[in-house]
Amino acid sequence: MATIDENLVSKVVSEVLIRLQSQNGAARTGGFSHTQYGVYEKMEDAVEAAHRSFAKLSEKAEEWGKIEFAETKIGREDHKIGKLKICGDLVPGVEYLERTAFSGDNGLTIIDAAPWGVIGAITPSTHSVPTLTGNAINMIAAGNAVVYNTHPSAAKCAAIAIRAYNEAIFKVTGISDLLTTVIKPTLETFDLMVKHPKVALLCVTGGPAVVKAAMASGKRAVCAGPGNPPVVVDETADLDRAARCIIEGASFDNNLLCIGEKQVFVVASVADKFMESMRKAGAVQLNPAQIEALTKVAFTVTPGQGGGCAHAHAAKEFIGKNANVLAKAVGLDLPDSVMLLFGETTEEHLFVQEEQMMPFLPIVRVPDADAAIAAAIRTEHGYRHTGIMHSQNIRNLTKMAQEIDTTLFIKNGPSMTGLGLGGEGFLSFSIATPTGEGVTTPMTFTRSRRCVMVESLNMF
Ligand code: NAD
Repeated sequence: MATIDENLVSKVVSEVLIRLQSQNGAARTGGFSHTQYGVYEKMEDAVEAAHRSFAKLSEKAEEWGKIEFAETKIGREDHKIGKLKICGDLVPGVEYLERTAFSGDNGLTIIDAAPWGVIGAITPSTHSVPTLTGNAINMIAAGNAVVYNTHPSAAKCAAIAIRAYNEAIFKVTGISDLLTTVIKPTLETFDLMVKHPKVALLCVTGGPAVVKAAMASGKRAVCAGPGNPPVVVDETADLDRAARCIIEGASFDNNLLCIGEKQVFVVASVADKFMESMRKAGAVQLNPAQIEALTKVAFTVTPGQGGGCAHAHAAKEFIGKNANVLAKAVGLDLPDSVMLLFGETTEEHLFVQEEQMMPFLPIVRVPDADAAIAAAIRTEHGYRHTGIMHSQNIRNLTKMAQEIDTTLFIKNGPSMTGLGLGGEGFLSFSIATPTGEGVTTPMTFTRSRRCVMVESLNMF
C-alpha cells in the first residue's frame, strides 16, 4: 500500500514539474497571457483573463490539496483543498503594515516596521502547504526572505508549492529565491538552519518538542505550539446548534487542526439532550466497551525514562484518519460519510488529556457551568491556545473568557471561526501561543525601528 501511494506522489510531482517547465517556456516565447500583464484593450478580454487566472488559483488549491493528501495520508482531501482556497482571501499582506509618526516642536520621529532579513520557518505535517503559504505571505509582505525546514513526511508537497511561489514572485520582481528549502529536511538541517548566523528570526509551527528545541536555540522564536482545545456546553446553550458546530469543528480535516475541538464538558442537566443532538446531527456514539477498545489502539504508551512517568501519545496509524477507520478498529462498519465519533468518558481519560488529532470526541458530564469551566482549564494544560463555549449566559461566557486565558476563545461557533472562517477576522495557520504573538500577521515578522530628526522636517 505504501509503495502505491509513493508512486502516486512521484507521478503527480513529475506532472507538476513538467507543467511548470512548460509554463516557463510559454513565458519565454511570449505567450498571450504573459505578455499582457493584466492590461487589455477590451474590457471583455480583461474580465476573461481575470477569470482564467482566478480559475488557475483554485486549480492550484485542488492540485496541491490532492498532492498533500497523497503524501501525508492524513486528514480529508476536500478539507486540505478548502484550507488552501481560503489563504488568498484571508491571510493579511502589506496592507497590514503600520507606520507611526510624531511631529512637533522638537522635529519629526518615524517608527517603521522593518524586516528581520532571513526567517527560518518550521512547518507541520498536519497542514504543510497552508502553513508555508500563510508564512510566505506574512513574511514577504514584511520585507523578509524565508528558509523552510518542512516536516519530512510533508516535504514533497511543500517543495512543489515553494517552487511555484518563487516562479510567480520572479515573474513580478525578478528575484528568484525569496523562499528556499531543502529537498530532504532532517533534524540536522533544522540544527544548521537555527544556528546559521544569517537566520535572524525563527517561526516554529508544531508540537512541544520542536517548540522546546527552537526556544533552546538562543535565537528569538515565534512559536505556534500545541493545543488541546476544550469545549464547554452549559444548560443555556442552543443544543442543536452546539452539536452542529462541534461536529463541524472537530471533524474538519479529521481533527488535525490545533484549534479543533478535542474534548467537551457538558452540564449534566442537558447532557442526554446534547448527546441526542449530536446523534441527530450525524455523529455516531460509541459505547463504553467500544471507547476502551479504541483507546487501546489509538494511543501508544512510552515507558518512563529513569524512574519518570510513562507517557501516552496518539498512535500514528490513527492520527488524521477517517471516523470509519477508527470505527472499524472496534468492529463497527460505518460509511465514509460519518464525520465524527463521540462517547462519554471521565476527565482523566486519555482522549481528554491528550491532543488526539483524530475524529473521536470524548464528552464529560459535569454538575454545573463552573465545574465545566474549571475542567476545561485543567485539560487545556496551560497551552494558552484555544477554548470554546456554547452558552447564552453572559456571566458564564465572560467567566470562561477571562479565566481560560487562551489565545483564541470562541463563543457559539465552530473552532475555525477563530481563524476567520465563518467568523470575523483574518487567517494564519501559525497561531503563536507560548510566545504570545497570537494569530500571526506581517507585523509579527517585523522589527520596530525609530528614526528621529531633531528640530527639522516638522511642518509646523
Ligand atoms: P511535530 O511537532 O511532529 O512537527 C512539527 C515540525 O517540527 C516538523 O517540521 C518536524 O520535522 C519538526 N520537529 C519535530 N520535532 C523536532 C525536534 N525535536 N527538533 C527539531 N525539529 C523537530 O508536529 P506535527 O505532527 O507535524 O503537527 C502537529 C502539532 O503541531 C500539534 O501539536 C499541533 O497542535 C501543532 N500545531 C500548532 C499550530 C499553531 O498554530 N499553534 C498549527 C499547526 C500545528
